[in-house]
Amino acid sequence: MTTQTIAPELSAIGDQPMLVAGEWIEASDGDWIDVVSPRDLTTIGRVPRGGPEDVQHAVAAAAAAFPAWRDTKPRTRGDLFRQIADALEPQLERIARLNSLENGNDLRTQTRGEAAFVVDCFRYFGGVATEMKGETVPLSSGVLDYSRREPWGVVGAIVPWNAPLMMAALKIAPALVSGNTMVLKTAEDAPLAVLEVARICQDFLPAGVLNVLTGYGAEAGEALINHPDVAKLSFTGSTGVGKRIMRTAADRVVPVSLELGGKSPQIVFPDADQDWVVDGTIAGMRIYRQGQSCTAGSRLFVHEDILDTYLDKLTTKLSRLVVGDPLDEATDIGAVVNQRQYDKICGYIADGIAQPGAELATGGLPDFDGPGLYIRPTVFANVSNTWRIAAEEIFGPVACVIPWRDEKDVVAMANDTHYGLAGFVWTKDIGAGLRTAHALEAGWVQVNQGGGQVLGQSFGGYKQSGLGREFSLEGMLESYTTRKHISLSLER
Ligand code: NAD
Repeated sequence: MTTQTIAPELSAIGDQPMLVAGEWIEASDGDWIDVVSPRDLTTIGRVPRGGPEDVQHAVAAAAAAFPAWRDTKPRTRGDLFRQIADALEPQLERIARLNSLENGNDLRTQTRGEAAFVVDCFRYFGGVATEMKGETVPLSSGVLDYSRREPWGVVGAIVPWNAPLMMAALKIAPALVSGNTMVLKTAEDAPLAVLEVARICQDFLPAGVLNVLTGYGAEAGEALINHPDVAKLSFTGSTGVGKRIMRTAADRVVPVSLELGGKSPQIVFPDADQDWVVDGTIAGMRIYRQGQSCTAGSRLFVHEDILDTYLDKLTTKLSRLVVGDPLDEATDIGAVVNQRQYDKICGYIADGIAQPGAELATGGLPDFDGPGLYIRPTVFANVSNTWRIAAEEIFGPVACVIPWRDEKDVVAMANDTHYGLAGFVWTKDIGAGLRTAHALEAGWVQVNQGGGQVLGQSFGGYKQSGLGREFSLEGMLESYTTRKHISLSLER
C-alpha cells in the first residue's frame, strides 16, 4: 500500500467548533470528540461533544430566525443557495480531501464526486425556490378555495458518516429554500467536511437559519429528536435508529422523513454475461465505497446458465482493484470508516467462511500490513438467500452470489427482505427487464445501469428502508412543507 503525503493545509486540522446562532462555538461543557482517520488511525482533529444544552441553544436560535426567514422572498432564498454553490466551487478539492481523510472514502472514485454533488444540489434546489405552488379548488362560483405551501418551522436533521456531504446537502438545501430553519447534527465519525460546507453557507445566510452541531447520537441526537420546538425530523441512517426516531416523533405527532438501510438485489439474466454487465454489477455493489452505501446491490442473483463465466469475470475484475490510501490517485477503494465497522464486517466474513456450503470466491479476512482499516472486496458464491450474510445489511465490501433458474422464484427471493431501497436488473430482454423492475419491491430499480442517485428523481425506500422522498422538487414539497387551505366567500 502506498502512502501519499497529506496536503499541508489538512495535516493540522485542529479543533473545529460547531455553528450555533451564527457563532462558532465549543460544547457548553467543554468536551471534545477526536476524529480518527481510518486511513492510518491518526487523530486528525477534534469537534465539540455537543449535548442537550447545546441543542437547546441551537433550537432556540433556529426558532428565533424562523419568522424572518419564512417571510424572505422564495426567490431570494433560492438566489442565496446559488451564490453559496458558486462560493463552494473553488473549495471542492479541499472539502473532498477532508472527507476522504475522515471517513476513508476514496478521493478519486468517491469524494470528489460527492463534493461536486453539493454544488449541484444547492443549484438544483436554489432553482426551484418559486415552485412551492398551491392549488385552487373549484367548489362553487361563490367561493375561492386555494392552498398555500408553508414551511414547518425548525427542522431537526441527522445524517450518517458514509456520504455525509451528500446527505447534509440533501437536507439543508430543500429545507432552507422552502423557508424552514434547521439544526443539523453531523455524524460523529465524519463531521469535518460538513462543517466546511456550513462555514461557506454561514457567509451568506442570516444567523440561526442553519445551525450545525457535532456530537454523539445518544447525546446530541437524542436531545434533538426529543426537543419540543422541533417541528419536523429528517433522518438518514440505520433502520434501528430510524424506528426509534419514529417512536419519539409519535409522542409529539411530529412528521418524520426517514432514509434507512438496504440489502438490495441485482438480478442477472442468462443473456447478460458480458463484461459491461460485470462492471455494472460491481458499481451496483458500491464496491468503490467499500460497500458502505444504503443502495449497495449486495445480493447478486445470477442465472445458473452463466454462473461460472460470470463468477470468473467478477472475481478477476474485483481482484484487480486497488485497495489502499484514499488520497492516492491510484487507489480504487479506500478504508472502512472505523474499528467498530471493520470488526463487524470481519465478523460477517468469518461467518460466511464458516457457513457450510458457502464458497469464498474472492477476498476474505484482511491481511494488510500497517495501520489503517482496509478490507478487500469479498464475494461468497453458492449462497442461500436466507443465510445471515445474505439477509443482513453488512455495510461493507461483501457480496453474495445466489444462483437462480426461474424468473418468478428469483423475484420472490429478491423481495424476501424487510428492506426495499434499490434494485438492479441486467438483461437485454426489455420485457423481462421491465417486468422484473415492476415486480421488485423497492423505491428505485435500475435496468442495465449501476450508477448513483441523481437530482430530479424522487428517491426513497419501500418497507423498512424508509419514509418520504429526497433528491427532487416533489421530495422537497412532501418533506419540508405542509398545506393550508384558505376559503374565501366571493359573495360578501
Ligand atoms: P446510525 O443510524 O448509527 O447513525 C446515523 C446518525 O444518527 C448519526 O449521526 C448518529 O449519531 C445518529 N444517531 C445514532 N443514534 C441516535 C439516537 N438514538 N438518536 C438520534 N440520533 C442518533 O447509522 P450509520 O451507521 O451512521 O449509517 C449507516 C446506516 O445508514 C446504514 O444502515 C445505511 O444503509 C443508512 N443510510 C441510508 C441512506 C439512505 O438514503 N437510505 C443513506 C446513507 C446511509
